[in-house]
Amino acid sequence: MPPTYIIQKSRRRSISVSVMTDNRVLVKAPYGISERTVQEFLLSKKDWIAKHLEKQNQEAAKADSLGLLSQDEIKQIKKRARKIIPQRVEYWAKQIGVTYGRIAIRLQSSRWGSCAQSGNLNFNCLLVIMPEEIMDSVVVHELCHRKHMNHSKAFYEEIDRVFPDYKRCDKWLKDNGGVYLKRVEK
Ligand SMILES: [Zn+2]
Repeated sequence: MPPTYIIQKSRRRSISVSVMTDNRVLVKAPYGISERTVQEFLLSKKDWIAKHLEKQNQEAAKADSLGLLSQDEIKQIKKRARKIIPQRVEYWAKQIGVTYGRIAIRLQSSRWGSCAQSGNLNFNCLLVIMPEEIMDSVVVHELCHRKHMNHSKAFYEEIDRVFPDYKRCDKWLKDNGGVYLKRVEK
C-alpha cells in the first residue's frame, strides 16, 4: 500500500520526496501534477521511504529509552557549549585561515550549524555532548563556508585539507544525530 503523504505544490519542475521528523511523507511537486504521477513516483521510492521510516522509528525508540533531556540538563549543556564551542571555532579558524563574526549557540531541533554570509556562526549546543571530533567536524564545515559559500568540490577539498577524518564524522552524525535531536522536547 502506498504511504499516506502530504503534498506541497509550487512552481518547481521536479518531484521529490522526504520523510519528516514526525514520520509524515512530504512530496514536493509542480502545480498541475496528476495524482497518478504522484502515486507512481511514491511507488518507485517505496524502499527508500520504508528505510527512512525504519531509521526514524529506531531513533525514536533509542531516544525514548534514554529519556528526554531535562531543563536542568539542557541548561548545563548550553553552559558548557558556550564555553567550549567558541574555543574550537577560534582554533579551527586559525588552521583554515578565515575570520568569522558572532557565534550563537542554541538548542535546535533540526540542524547542527550554519554560517551566514556575514560570517556569523550558529551552532547547536547538543554538539558538546557528542564525541569531540564530531563537534569539530561541524565547526570545520561551517568555517570552510567562509571560503566557499556552497557545497562544491572545492569546499569539500578544503575540509579534507584540514580535517581528513571528515567523511567518517559526517556519517556518524547522520547515523547518530537523530537520537540526540529526539531527546529534546518539541
Ligand atoms: Zn554547509
